[in-house]
Amino acid sequence: LNRRLAAFGTTIFAEMSALAQRTGSINLGQGFPDADGPEEVREAAVRALRDGRGNQYPPGPGIPELRTAVAAHQQRFYGHRGLSYDPDTEVLVTAGATEALAASLLALLEPGDEVVALEPYYDSYAAGIAMAGGRRVPVTLRPSAETGTYHLDLDEFRDALTDKTRLILLNTPHNPTGTVLSRDELAAIAALAVERDLLVVADEVYEHLVFEGEHLPIASFPGMRERTVTISSAGKTFSFTGWKVGWVTAAPELISAVRSAKQFLTYVSAGPFQYAVAEALALPDAYFTGLRDDLRTKRDILATGLADAGFGVFRPAGTYFITTDIRPLGETDGFAFCRALPERAGVVAIPNAVFYDHQDQGAPFVRFAFCKGTAVLQEAAGRLKRL
Ligand code: PMP
Ligand code: GLN
Repeated sequence: LNRRLAAFGTTIFAEMSALAQRTGSINLGQGFPDADGPEEVREAAVRALRDGRGNQYPPGPGIPELRTAVAAHQQRFYGHRGLSYDPDTEVLVTAGATEALAASLLALLEPGDEVVALEPYYDSYAAGIAMAGGRRVPVTLRPSAETGTYHLDLDEFRDALTDKTRLILLNTPHNPTGTVLSRDELAAIAALAVERDLLVVADEVYEHLVFEGEHLPIASFPGMRERTVTISSAGKTFSFTGWKVGWVTAAPELISAVRSAKQFLTYVSAGPFQYAVAEALALPDAYFTGLRDDLRTKRDILATGLADAGFGVFRPAGTYFITTDIRPLGETDGFAFCRALPERAGVVAIPNAVFYDHQDQGAPFVRFAFCKGTAVLQEAAGRLKRL
């Protein structure tokens, strides 16, 4: 293994899901729903398979039906903010958001370029930046026990930008803290990107999982459309994490760049699932609000359970994760806590330190996923209360 990758080992999600399986624990670690997405969307995949649609290589940029559906989705949800995309030149289908991220970084970075990202960050960011030869520059979100939320210090953000900065890698709603960046924060970041002539890769996979406030695509801020690569995924929005269908929307030159990298990573994404996701994106508004409302209820169940069990709870405004502080339980090391938790309580969680360069900053925090049935969440909360 080369030096660029050696530091990353096995992803925490594989390690913790294996631990859950080995110990028969409730898996609130890796973020995947325990109920699959809509029946009619599964049927659409079966129909595509059966009718021979997508069983051979689909077109490189993605099937036209899906690109059209992505463009229509952007128009439906963000058209009022002036955002719309041409399905032929401004949409690219990828193998999940993970490939979209990797392809974007590989396509847009020169070796040595700096990438500013909000820490804690999703684990593929560090590896993706490293594979592209870039250098990551974390800006740490600061937890506040009083408000039970995380905050971005815009002065720190500005100070992180140097003449080597090429790109801002932004994630809102934010995994693992559940932070949804506000209009003012996004406007400030956008203004800096314009002033410094930076690109933004916006990971918006949790765009429909916002419980408080509103998801605002950074591409919809002044001067941003031409410099933003926006990424989303059917994994989160339709509860099909195993299908690995994601997409990118951006200006034609950026799409063309990302596609240059994608063509040598996977060339194309699985065909039949693209037909099904095209149908999913056309589901009525009630599907999207229903998903959100259901997850809000689940958030509340788990947040209450965790607080009752003595955790410090950061209440997420979005995503399906709750970050907790284990210090009120007399613990300080999230890694040790998560490794012992299956034995102690029959529950698996993720130590937030894996999402940090400044590991000390993340040490006492642990993430729980709430995209599970309510009975499962209640059972987990009950077990944790007996800790
Ligand atoms: N970005 C973030 C912030 C995520 O949480 C995830 C999924 N865990 C991904 C990207 C990857 O998405 P996909 O499964 O579509 O590759
Ligand atoms: N995105 C999910 C998470 O953050 C799962 C990621 C994965 O398994 N690679 O838990």
